[in-house]
Amino acid sequence: MTPPADSPSVPSNVVPPAPGSSRTIIVKEYDFFKVVQDYLERASRTLDLADFVRAILSQPKNELIINFPVKMDNGEVRLFKGYRVQHNNLLGPFKGGMRYHPSVTLDDVKALAAMMTWKCALMRVPFGGGKGGIKFDPHSVTKNELQKITRRFTHALGENIGPEYDIPAPDVGTNSQTMAWMMDTYSNMVGAANKQSVKGVVTGKPVASGGTLGRAKATGQGAVFCVIEWAKEKGFELEGSTMTVQGFGNVGSHLAVILSRLGVSTIAVGDHTGYLLNPEGFNAHKLQDWVETHGSIAGYPGGKAITREEFFKTKADIFAPCALENQIGETEAKNLDCKVIVEGANGPTNPAGERILLERGIDIIPDVLANSGGVTVSYYEWVQNKRSESWTEEEVDAKLEKAMTRAYREVADFARQHKVDRRIGAYGLALQRIEAVYKEREIFP
Ligand code: NAD
Repeated sequence: MTPPADSPSVPSNVVPPAPGSSRTIIVKEYDFFKVVQDYLERASRTLDLADFVRAILSQPKNELIINFPVKMDNGEVRLFKGYRVQHNNLLGPFKGGMRYHPSVTLDDVKALAAMMTWKCALMRVPFGGGKGGIKFDPHSVTKNELQKITRRFTHALGENIGPEYDIPAPDVGTNSQTMAWMMDTYSNMVGAANKQSVKGVVTGKPVASGGTLGRAKATGQGAVFCVIEWAKEKGFELEGSTMTVQGFGNVGSHLAVILSRLGVSTIAVGDHTGYLLNPEGFNAHKLQDWVETHGSIAGYPGGKAITREEFFKTKADIFAPCALENQIGETEAKNLDCKVIVEGANGPTNPAGERILLERGIDIIPDVLANSGGVTVSYYEWVQNKRSESWTEEEVDAKLEKAMTRAYREVADFARQHKVDRRIGAYGLALQRIEAVYKEREIFP
């Protein structure tokens, strides 16, 4: 259902549907790809990165747009627009999520694909960067239609994905079920003899279908390891502290649940349906179950409805944006009353907002670092698929903790040495690693 135009949860760039139409128009006024290119530019200057490396990384290698038809439950044929952007595969196969959302655009997917390249290099994961998606609202179709859309898109992608070439994963609007359908479709395209060897074509699968334990919570868990490191660095006591969370899907809900075990209480939450406050702290587990059953936080009995503005003004120690890009602009940055922002989402802070946050001395654990637990555990899943192994959740968690802690400290040291903020530090470190390989391999022919 489309929220009413005057709903506090509706961003200003959303135009309500015309009378008689169910289509919501989202007017783009934010160039996410340009923002990522600017960060690349700034980090390259700081590092004196070779011009040819900066030039190559400033654009994706391949951009795919696929318009494909699907017969809906009522017999009508609807045309969908799907994207797959392959940014860079110097360090390994293209890797990145598939997003189902009405606001998906080619430029956003390009931005997200580039960020995957930096993330994998930063985490020393032998993958490159990719991203994809379909422009539609997955809440507006039936489960049967969702399956048909996913399978048709996977089929249309054909050999443009593959376990050694380009490996999708879940993102906004997709989940382990989506990945099971993608894997099954792909495995039916490669012939009976290869069915078993292509499980690694996607990650984030259900465990019984070849997924890994610990993947569902991995992005939230990785962000928690960053928060723990930040708290150690600052001498901050997590037990008894407070947090607000925007986006209570995969990333946000796991982050809240895991931090609640460390005594961090989530006092305000928000999603595409609105915002809720509970000064006593939500039961993160119960709220996660509610969202799983009902699809959003709407109607959850344990909180008072507040506006988006009130949400951003709520005083808490930690703010975790875990929804979409471009959520913290100038206004939000001025209103936020917190010590640290842990970017579970990709690109939640826009450059104007970031400038204000930095001036105000609010710490930012940047997306490229904070949410890289997802791709790191995706790599563990891919390795297990290759070796026909199943690791325990403890093994996965221990490896992830080591990887996140190391990356957090490396970014902190790099930023200190180069006198830059941590976002540029994270970009810089990743770019330096990519540059080293380009300098060794040089350009073909
Ligand atoms: P999800 O679909 O599970 O959850 C998205 C959440 O954002 C939902 O609660 C939704 O209601 C909320 N949301 C959507 N539009 C909103 C709006 N306009 N205002 C407020 N809330 C809104 O997706 P997810 O996988 O949790 O991804 C969230 C973010 O984390 C994205 O930026 C994604 O790219 C990033 N991320 C995800 C992973 C992963 O493993 N899933 C890994 C790295 C980064």
